[in-house]
Amino acid sequence: MSDSDAEKWKQKCLTLAEELDEQQARREHHEKCLARALIRLSHLSQGIDPSLDPHLQKMREVLKSGRLDDRKLGEIESFAEVLLRLELKQAPTGNWQTQVVEFFQSQARDYPEREVFAKLQKKVKKQPFKDATALFQAMEEALQDSSSVKSASSLIGRWFKKGAAAASFDEGILKVQLVRLIQEIDIPPRLTSQSEDLLNKLQQDNCRFDEVIEGTAGLLSEIKDQLKKEQHEIEDFLSTLTAKLQNLEQQALDVGRVFSSEEAWGDSMSKHVERLRHHTLEETDLEALKMAISSRLDVLTEQLRHYQEAEAQRNNEVDQRVLAMTERLQALERESQELHQRLRLAHRQALYDAVTGLPNRKAVEERMAQEFSRWQRFKQPVSLLVWDIDHFKQINDRFGHQAGDKALRVVAQTLSQGIREADFIGRYGGEEFVMLLPGTDVEGGLKVAEKLRQAVETCGFNSRGKPVPITISCGVTEFREGDRVETAFERADKALYEAKQAGRNCCRVQ
Ligand code: GH3
Ligand code: MG
Ligand code: MG
Repeated sequence: MSDSDAEKWKQKCLTLAEELDEQQARREHHEKCLARALIRLSHLSQGIDPSLDPHLQKMREVLKSGRLDDRKLGEIESFAEVLLRLELKQAPTGNWQTQVVEFFQSQARDYPEREVFAKLQKKVKKQPFKDATALFQAMEEALQDSSSVKSASSLIGRWFKKGAAAASFDEGILKVQLVRLIQEIDIPPRLTSQSEDLLNKLQQDNCRFDEVIEGTAGLLSEIKDQLKKEQHEIEDFLSTLTAKLQNLEQQALDVGRVFSSEEAWGDSMSKHVERLRHHTLEETDLEALKMAISSRLDVLTEQLRHYQEAEAQRNNEVDQRVLAMTERLQALERESQELHQRLRLAHRQALYDAVTGLPNRKAVEERMAQEFSRWQRFKQPVSLLVWDIDHFKQINDRFGHQAGDKALRVVAQTLSQGIREADFIGRYGGEEFVMLLPGTDVEGGLKVAEKLRQAVETCGFNSRGKPVPITISCGVTEFREGDRVETAFERADKALYEAKQAGRNCCRVQ
């Protein structure tokens, strides 16, 4: 791109940016003017209808709080909708004829009928009829083709039924009709005394007709306002109800989401709430609306009940399953504990001797290997002692095998009690025991052996109350350089043999 081209584009961009700024400023100015105008308008409208005032206030707040963004525009839009739905109270006309027409208009059943009264209303406002009789006759004539006139169930029907009082609305008949009207409509409590006064007046022969017709029109107008107010209240109530139902629906859906099987239930729930909302917005007949709401609520309640039942059942099933699982778990735990115990026992049986409770030959061999390798590493002296009960065969032969066993236990206990915690004793086989004394050299080992030999000699062993002398011989050695476990053991065994040779009940060292 040439320099001149670039300059041209730059200029173009600048011009566009300026135009944009200008447009933006203009728009903001328009927005401000519009907001100001709306605020002024809302001030002017304040007080026309109490139900409108809070909305006006809200709108002013929105308009005053800076630029109009999408959210604020949304709020203004919803205000406009409220305005559309709100039938503003019309300024009182002060004309009793308008009030009478308005009352009958409020009783109209359909659009054409309302139109009839609307036309009459215009006429009355322009030029009132000369008296009540003329007004009622005009109403009767205008209504000849309307649907209500054919039905005796509507108020308009009863008043203007063809032929009932056609063309004969004189003051007397009107008075009677007015009495009937007041008696048959629902009078709000706050207007009862006013209506009773009117009834009294109407029933007096000399009452002034223009006075009572004005009174009646005023009463009818107030009743109409009251009805309108009630209708607003009902609408408010219904919109609250709808909101509550929506909330209920949301909750139900939330619950439903927990279990996938609830999807269908959530769907049908939504439909019911949707229909209810539809009725609330569309239905104008209060009775029909009540029935619709009531029946929908019944369905919803029924569905909730079903759901609760199903859930209770499901909870029950879950409980049962949890119970079954807990039982299985407990059984497994018991089984595992038993296995553990059996394993411990098997382990014990594998390494311990059943008669004396001392470590058995296998354990002795393991321990000898352990102490030997420790000795090799630390070179601390370790004594090895081999014991053998003297003439044990004779004990068995003379006092029986059981006495022999008892002797084995007593000797095992005596030997065990005489050594230190770190020392070791095991039953090597038959009536032979092996001791390992770590940290004790051969001299020390001999001293221990001698002490224990004496302890066995003086242990006071007896069988069935008879003293049985019992002695023991011992061969003592220690691990030495160049040893293996076997050579050390052979040396100790040799020393034992020497002790036996020397006459038993003594200890020898190798
Ligand atoms: P010595 O003084 O030469 O050692 O004579 P001894 O009789 O003790 O030696 P011998 O080896 O001839 O006899 C050992 C006996 O020990 C033979 C056996 O019946 C007995 N014996 C081995 N184990 C047990 C046991 O567990 N219980 C019983 N009651 N006797 C056993
Ligand atoms: Mg022996
Ligand atoms: Mg022996």
